[in-house]
Amino acid sequence: MKEEIFVTKPYLPPKEEYMEYLDKIWETRHLTNHGPFLMEFTDQLCELLDVDNCLPMTNGHMALEMTIQAFKLTGEVITTPYTFASTTHAIVRNGLTPVFCDVRESDCTMDPDKIEALITDKTSAIVPVHVYGMPCDVKAIDAIAKKHNLKVIYDAAHAFGETIDGESIVHFGDASMFSFHATKCFTSIEGGCSVVNDQDLMLRIYQLHNFGIMNEESVAYVGANAKMNEFQAAMGLCNLKHFDEITVQRKAVVDLYMKLLAGVKGIRLLDYNNEHIKFNYSYFPIFIDKDEFGMSRDEVYDYLLKNGIHARKYFYPITSEFECYQDSGFRGDVSIAKRLSTMVLTLPLYPDLATDIVERICELLKTAGKKGKLK
Ligand SMILES: *Cc1c(COP(=O)(O)O)cnc(C)c1O
Repeated sequence: MKEEIFVTKPYLPPKEEYMEYLDKIWETRHLTNHGPFLMEFTDQLCELLDVDNCLPMTNGHMALEMTIQAFKLTGEVITTPYTFASTTHAIVRNGLTPVFCDVRESDCTMDPDKIEALITDKTSAIVPVHVYGMPCDVKAIDAIAKKHNLKVIYDAAHAFGETIDGESIVHFGDASMFSFHATKCFTSIEGGCSVVNDQDLMLRIYQLHNFGIMNEESVAYVGANAKMNEFQAAMGLCNLKHFDEITVQRKAVVDLYMKLLAGVKGIRLLDYNNEHIKFNYSYFPIFIDKDEFGMSRDEVYDYLLKNGIHARKYFYPITSEFECYQDSGFRGDVSIAKRLSTMVLTLPLYPDLATDIVERICELLKTAGKKGKLK
């Protein structure tokens, strides 16, 4: 039987390590609500992220939604559509109007040169995305936000553990959130985390994520339930121990892809040769130019699939093209994001992806290109 290769494979720690935590949970019966593993996980995350406070939650989407809610924003929020559904949904579900800014061709993040033209007197915040773990131009974005008195909330779902010039990526902007979903580079099964540099806001997010409850007799906000449970926190604690080692393994896979695909006509790769950034090597997208490569992205996708390789079209379609937003009238020219979304293919990447499989994928890609041209 031919082995099917998927775009990702969730990381799991050695089973015995998780079982030790389970034994303790069975002893204490503390399953959720401010449990000891959650406290320990929170402390370790603060240390890794170099912050005083952070709040792990049940998933990344709720972390984003509640973080946005805590700022009590109004009107319009500038964001990009070249992302996962969560980013745009979190804005809309807060009763805010997304205004779409185009992305940079080079790294698919928000183009700072195109932000100011979108700002109106209704704009209250910017929600950029560190897509694929490619950090946004945080300095330019933060400068624009300061000038116009706007909040900056980073969707850092893909950027866990990264640094810019040695600074934790959460030190930029007013807030950031991460996702610890099973498919992400660091996982707590489902999970996420909100990081805000303001103590009062962090407290408000804490209250929001527990129904807006202040104390036994007072409920101050229309909150929801986004608490992380002890089973998730335990998985997070186990996986944190292995995060450095799996990042090294991911880097080796990325390095091999880069080496084998360098110079293939019609395939563009992201630039990981940036000494200012410590990457987490979350994803490996390639951008296929149909005319130069001789085959369209969709044809390459089908070709790989026939050979047992499940690549993914991350991110296609862009969120502004979603069915649910068709009649929304959200504004913004996103022609580059739209074009990139028709070219992108995200290749399999996980820590123990074998060298010979990466070689096979690259070989398939190279022959696909030639085949296309022969037609
Ligand atoms: C995964 C993801 C989220 C949401 O995180 P979940 O943990 O899946 O809820 C938000 N934004 C982006 C860009 C993501 O990839």
